[in-house]
Amino acid sequence: MIKQQPVFDYLNCVSCGICAQACPVSALEMKKEGKSGKYRNIFPELLPGVCIGCGQCAASCPMEVIRMEEVERLMRVKILPPHGSDRRALDERSWAELPEGSTVRDVLKLIRCNPAKARLLLVSVNGERCPLSRELRDGDVVGFFFPVSGG
Ligand code: SF4
Ligand code: SF4
Repeated sequence: MIKQQPVFDYLNCVSCGICAQACPVSALEMKKEGKSGKYRNIFPELLPGVCIGCGQCAASCPMEVIRMEEVERLMRVKILPPHGSDRRALDERSWAELPEGSTVRDVLKLIRCNPAKARLLLVSVNGERCPLSRELRDGDVVGFFFPVSGG
């Protein structure tokens, strides 16, 4: 999924803070920048997960510092992959970023689980069993495990 997000040309920013005041969801924070504790400039910093892409910051900036660009919406999902998976897309705490609307099947592609192995796996999302077609949400925990054979 695509959304609009502001991009800043900080060279022309005069640190007035009007953009941050104009934002209806407080997605811009004025952050101090500088060296040795002597702050010279304050620039707006975006909280991407909060921004709703309304464009009011760009419209309000008197210096035309902000332009709106299309970006893909991402969510973060914790993945507990089956043994032998490719973990390169996961961070050290096992979180990965995926486009919004991704399903468990997309997670399997991300960790390069081959289809034959995927068919044997059971899946849980936030501790509950679910199918591969399950659509994921930001913050979900996806676990894969092999069924235990008993008798
Ligand atoms: S696009 Fe809208 S929500 Fe996003 S930072 Fe600008 S004013 Fe805030
Ligand atoms: S409104 Fe424009 S000039 Fe003022 S702080 Fe925001 S980006 Fe900088």
